[in-house]
Amino acid sequence: MKVFQLARKINRYLKQRQKQSLSRYLSPVRRIERVAPVPGQRVVAMTFDDGPSAAPLAPGGGSGLTVILLDILAQYQAFGTFDVVGTTAHNYPDREGKLHTAQWSGISHDHYPAFSMDHLGGVVNQPELVRRMVAEGHELANHTYSHVAFGPTRWVYGSRSYLPDLAAVVEDLRKLHDLVLEQFGYAMRLSRPPHYIDPTKDGKSAYDAYRVMGYQYLAASFDGGGWMPTTGDYRRDVDKMVEPLAAALKAEPESLNGQIIFQKDGYNMSKETPVADALPRQLALLQRYGYRVITVSQLLDLSPFTDLPGDHPVFGAARALANRGHVVGYQDNTFQPDRVLTRGELAVMISPPGDGVHAELASNGGASKPAFRDVPSSHPYYREVALAHQRGWIKGEGHLFQPDRPVTGEQLTEVIRAMGRTPAGMAGAKALGGDSPWTGPITRGQAALVLAESLGG
Ligand SMILES: [Zn+2]
Repeated sequence: MKVFQLARKINRYLKQRQKQSLSRYLSPVRRIERVAPVPGQRVVAMTFDDGPSAAPLAPGGGSGLTVILLDILAQYQAFGTFDVVGTTAHNYPDREGKLHTAQWSGISHDHYPAFSMDHLGGVVNQPELVRRMVAEGHELANHTYSHVAFGPTRWVYGSRSYLPDLAAVVEDLRKLHDLVLEQFGYAMRLSRPPHYIDPTKDGKSAYDAYRVMGYQYLAASFDGGGWMPTTGDYRRDVDKMVEPLAAALKAEPESLNGQIIFQKDGYNMSKETPVADALPRQLALLQRYGYRVITVSQLLDLSPFTDLPGDHPVFGAARALANRGHVVGYQDNTFQPDRVLTRGELAVMISPPGDGVHAELASNGGASKPAFRDVPSSHPYYREVALAHQRGWIKGEGHLFQPDRPVTGEQLTEVIRAMGRTPAGMAGAKALGGDSPWTGPITRGQAALVLAESLGG
């Protein structure tokens, strides 16, 4: 257990550093860990990793685990987000690892539901389970076709094989995406990397792969505990999955609102399935506190960002822009309505949704040579700045674009006119700024109000 404690400590430190870098840039791929509490109701999501699984429960045997979980969810009218894999049947040759450790299912690869039992798991081998998930209103998320790590890692999963580069990661994701689309008519929009290993061998990351796939990064904020090794006492293992939730709800009944609970659709590290006995108790608890368990996509529809509650004056505008496909949130899924809007961010926010930027730059060769010294091709806003410049929406000065310079209210209205639109929504934006003059720097919240009104329709 000491190794896990150390690994968790290191994880916490890395997470802190990651948080700082993820809040710097707007991104089409946002890390969805939790969302702002939804006013007037209590909603929470649950993600079930590594299934589907037709392997029997342990201890106890009997029906496959996924069937049991689906029955329980139906009984509580709860909707899960199943983070499914394609199949681990090709992850051989491999050796079985030591029970109660992270290598329990294999040394070089993961095997789900367990070593040499691959045929009992995965979308490829258990399509009926997936069909039932879709039919009963659950969400499917892409946990990759083969559950091979996106890149090398040290520590706990250091012995694992990994994919060679970003292209291989995209290929693996695409394989499961297309399979699920063809077989079940279901288009997945969320994905979680195996073991949350983000960096690829060629210096890219899960975020680059998800940008290509049009996905959001599916994380979680509350650990359901179903993956942990046994204490040696099954009843205790089940209790340990219920107690943290009970304690959190008792301390603050609102605290789970907007959170994403991590669950396991498979064995824990000791090849047991305490989730089968813990889930009904967890759901009963949540129900008693007035919670509805909904899918992550439903949660995102109600509350797209982590820091923008539904009663915030900018909420409607930010959500409208996001729903139309505009990139308006930071990579850590914050909106930061009070932050001053920069020229680089404005270029991103007004960019045509979807692949418009790619297509347009490719067609006129604009991507070949950077127009500005301070926005090199490695800059995260490079393509959007190049497009805004090409179209004459935002002008630079000589060789400089000054992406970090604040935008004034007057400049924003000029940009909207340059786009051939009529500026609108200024009254609300000015009111939001209090006494600050429209000739001064404006916030991202003010900009969202104006852009939502001016670019709509
Ligand atoms: Zn996994």
